[in-house]
Amino acid sequence: MLNDLSFAALAGQQKVKTVLGRSLGSGRMPHAYLFRGPDGVGKKLTALLTAARLNCLAPEGGNGCGLCSSCSRLRSGNHPDVVVIAPENGSIGIDRVRELCRSLSYPPYESAIRVVVIEDVHTMTTEAANSLLKTLEEPPENNLLILTAETSRALLPTIVSRCQAVTFYGLPIDQCARLIEQKLPGIGFDEARLLAQLSDGSPGIALAFKEKELVALYRAVVTLLEAEVTADQDNVTPVLETAAELAALKEDLPLFLGLLKTWVRDLMKTATEVNFAVQKQRLAALDRAHRQLERNCNRTLVSEVLLFNLQSSVAEVS
Ligand SMILES: [Zn+2]
Repeated sequence: MLNDLSFAALAGQQKVKTVLGRSLGSGRMPHAYLFRGPDGVGKKLTALLTAARLNCLAPEGGNGCGLCSSCSRLRSGNHPDVVVIAPENGSIGIDRVRELCRSLSYPPYESAIRVVVIEDVHTMTTEAANSLLKTLEEPPENNLLILTAETSRALLPTIVSRCQAVTFYGLPIDQCARLIEQKLPGIGFDEARLLAQLSDGSPGIALAFKEKELVALYRAVVTLLEAEVTADQDNVTPVLETAAELAALKEDLPLFLGLLKTWVRDLMKTATEVNFAVQKQRLAALDRAHRQLERNCNRTLVSEVLLFNLQSSVAEVS
C-alpha cells in the first residue's frame, strides 16, 4: 500500500524529479520512458507517482492528491488503468507482451491515460522484446509506457532508442543510512551505514539485506575468502559447507551475489595493479554465476565453483 503519492516520497533523485516535473507540468509526455538505474532506488515508485499525477482528479502542485477516487485505487494497487508487468520466474515472455499489446488498443477504462509499467525489461526474452517494438514506436493513443531496467546495456538498442531515458542513481551513503534509520528505528547509525555501503546507496536493497539477515553470512563468506590458502591445509571442506549455505538462500542468492560484488568493487578502489586484475577476475566470476542462476543451473554447483574461483584468484598471486 502506497501512503504518500507526492514526489516527496521519493528519496534523493533530484534530477529525475526535475525532468518528470517539467513534463508533467507542461503535459508534453513522450510515448515511453525508460527508467534505468540500480534496484531499490525508487524506479517503480516513481512510475506509480507519475501515474498518480497523470490521472488524479484534483492534482496538487506536481503531485497526485492521494485522496480522490483515482488516487485511492492506485494506492490500494487496483487501479484499472495502471498496469504493472513484472518478471515471472525470472523473465517476461512473449505471450504476456502480445496480450499486453492487444489490450492497449482498447481505450482506458476511466482515465485519460493508461500507464503501463514494465519492470526489469532486461529480463524479457528476445522474442518478447521484438514483439514490443512496434507498440513502443507507436503506442495506441492515451497510453504511457514506463520501462524499468538496471542499465540500458542488456537491452535491444531498438528498445532504448524508442524511449526517453531517465537515469536513477544510488543515494549518497549518509543519506541512504539516514533513510534506513527512519525505516528501521532502533537499528543504530553504524549498522545503517554499513547496510547503505553494502547496498551501494540503494535503500530498497539495504532493507532487503536486513530483512533477510544476509549481513552475517556475508561477513562469514568474506572471512573465508580472505583467509590465506595453504597447500597442506584442507580448504575444501569449509568452502563446500559455505557453498551449501549459499545454495540454501534459494531465490535470494542473486541478491547475495550483489553483496559480494560490492565487496569486490570496494577492494578495487584501493587495489594495486596486480590486485586490480585479480578483483576483475572475481567480478567476472560473480557475473558468470549470476548468469548461470538465471539459466536455472544447480545452485549448489554454481556456489561451489564460484567460491573456489573467488578463492583461487587470490591464491594465484600470493
Ligand atoms: Zn488524486
